[in-house]
Amino acid sequence: MAPVHVLVFPWPLQGHINSMLPFAAGLLGAGVHVTFLHTEHNLRRVDRAASPRLRFASVPDGLPDDHPRSVAHLSEIGRSLRPSASAAYRALLAPALSAGSHADGGFPPVSCVVVDGLLPFAIDIAEELGVPALAFRTESACSILAYLSVPGLVELGEVPVPVGADLDEPVRGVPGMEGFLRRRDLPSSCRGHGEVDELDPMLQTLAKYTAHSCTARALIFNTTASLERSALAHIAPHMRDVFAIGPLHAMSAAPASATSLWREDDGCMAWLDGHADRSVVYVSLGSLAIISREQFTEFLSGLVGAGYAFLWAFRSDMVGASQSAALQEAVDAAGKRKVRVVDWAPQRDVLRHRAVGCFLTHAGWNSTLEGIVEGVPLVCWPFFADQQINSRFTAAVWGTGLDMKDVCERAVVERMVREAMESGELRRSAQALSQQVRRDIAQGGSSVSEFERLVKFIKELTA
Ligand code: UDP
Repeated sequence: MAPVHVLVFPWPLQGHINSMLPFAAGLLGAGVHVTFLHTEHNLRRVDRAASPRLRFASVPDGLPDDHPRSVAHLSEIGRSLRPSASAAYRALLAPALSAGSHADGGFPPVSCVVVDGLLPFAIDIAEELGVPALAFRTESACSILAYLSVPGLVELGEVPVPVGADLDEPVRGVPGMEGFLRRRDLPSSCRGHGEVDELDPMLQTLAKYTAHSCTARALIFNTTASLERSALAHIAPHMRDVFAIGPLHAMSAAPASATSLWREDDGCMAWLDGHADRSVVYVSLGSLAIISREQFTEFLSGLVGAGYAFLWAFRSDMVGASQSAALQEAVDAAGKRKVRVVDWAPQRDVLRHRAVGCFLTHAGWNSTLEGIVEGVPLVCWPFFADQQINSRFTAAVWGTGLDMKDVCERAVVERMVREAMESGELRRSAQALSQQVRRDIAQGGSSVSEFERLVKFIKELTA
């Protein structure tokens, strides 16, 4: 049988790269050749330690190098990427280029692609060229089920959620979640902006792309059955096949630094070493969230008020310069032992550290999974997209954290951080879930079996 060569193409943002590079590492472990496709901009930023069966390639995203590529520009990135990247992507799939003529040499032609479900054009181009395409979604399965349910939710009049509506009302129409899903837990783009019947363009796009995934040969999730069994079961009938193979970061040997678009400040690890077990609050709102001056003040006051030492991964682009100065003042006032601020933390190592007692997070899917694997209770302050539903699952389904959604007040931050640090029940639930997920990713566990089934599926597809 000819060697299998899979091209892996993530949407060019940190959270997407962070789940798809460990996926690529898993394929390597299964003897597959992998081309990992970045944008040119990102390829310049990452550590690209290629290995004999792994190579990195890039496509242009069409944006100037100094473009911020931030959360405010997601639609712009999408609009630019398709026309800019298509020709180079197409060329990579042409047998002559994908094989021996490449500088790395010795690669068989691309036999199959696994592309981010947010890049439907990459599915279409591959299939048009006769290369089978699988879709990968880096978000939770529960959020994808919500996007798949959008036409039904619109028909039921649940979405868009009218401005001023009671957000605590239960939502009908997302299968399996009727008992606990409230309006406020739907992906953020489900909320209306004024005109009652106007769907948010972002929601329309996400619903369209999610529906498009059913044209792919299969849909792959960075999740596991024990976390999202019901959502996966409800998604399966819409897709040609579904694989739940995560949490991938805990299954592969890909070093976190190989995925990072920012330089990690690992000085905080020695700082953590100097603290007692479970005595530190780790705070990170991921790679995209931005907060207002008021929210910043409430977070900071609540954290200081809770009285625990805290480590805050605080991207300089998350707030204005005046807030960064205020944070520095808080550090000076509290003392370096009590507060540590880094631009970008080695998050997976931080969460694994014995000194971390809870994680104040925006509930991005990678962060949620990383917290779950380490058995750390979460305090969730969801910002956008799937984070609203992830935080509901954390609090209401898994019982491993608290959901601060839509409320950013110092007293609430203080109370929830204290509870997450002190509650034996939350810690026990978090530890129990961690054990369950670790069983899923151990030999014979559901995610390992699903990964093996996926590799077999790819090999048969490309035979
Ligand atoms: N991350 C990190 N250092 C930081 C902040 C975040 O390494 O200081 C990583 C984190 O471990 C996670 C990713 O960035 O893997 C963020 O992805 P997530 O899905 O949680 O949120 P997003 O950034 O997409 O909103």
